[in-house]
Amino acid sequence: MSELKHGFRINTKTCQGRMHCMRACPTRAIRVKNGKAGLISELCIDCGLCLTVCPTEAIAATTITFAELDRFKFKVAVVSPALFAQFGMRDTPESVGRALLELGFDAVWEYSVDIELIDRAIAACVKKWPGPFPLISNSCPVVVRLVQVAYPSMVEQLIPVDAPREIAARELKRRYSQELGIAAEDIAAIYITPCLAKTISILQPAEEDILFRAKCSIGEPRKASSPASRASIISPSRV
Ligand code: SF4
Repeated sequence: MSELKHGFRINTKTCQGRMHCMRACPTRAIRVKNGKAGLISELCIDCGLCLTVCPTEAIAATTITFAELDRFKFKVAVVSPALFAQFGMRDTPESVGRALLELGFDAVWEYSVDIELIDRAIAACVKKWPGPFPLISNSCPVVVRLVQVAYPSMVEQLIPVDAPREIAARELKRRYSQELGIAAEDIAAIYITPCLAKTISILQPAEEDILFRAKCSIGEPRKASSPASRASIISPSRV
């Protein structure tokens, strides 16, 4: 089994072993040994609680630099609706979009239309779902991982429909590739979100297992993509 990726790192040099993270972790994925915190990767659900409680900031989110995106010919910011709520009342979605263009993105993709498409797919899925119930939304990667780690008997109840961010990335690559005559692999779909778990789910989607055994989905169940072919990630703290 390949190593699980997570959206943060523990700096053992600055860790003082004060155990705040260990006590906060809902899945007991952190152990403190010889005065240093260590991660049990397969138990971590990327909820981010340990980052918020560490008094020495020894646990920090990982990210990439903007310069690393220069290998792409066309860079599209895929903006989570939650991002717009991070600013003051005077900062409209339009001004946030303009700021992203000024930072160096070639286009900004706001994906509320894709969310409507998914709502319809979920409604259709619920209608023909053979059971068991209740069905659980797979929109939040933390919930998906929590079910996988702590309630494996309920995995079958996670809704097997693609996440909006995945559909948005596929659709924008198809569209800009056609319009601009650029190969899809030269187009970067950069998902911008304040959520740690969603950034890492781009590289390693928790819901991929669900889509493999889809009983109903948008299109055919697909094979796992390599990390390189997926949307790239960038933390909002970078922009
Ligand atoms: S991200 Fe959440 S699950 Fe993972 S180690 Fe931190 S507190 Fe535990």
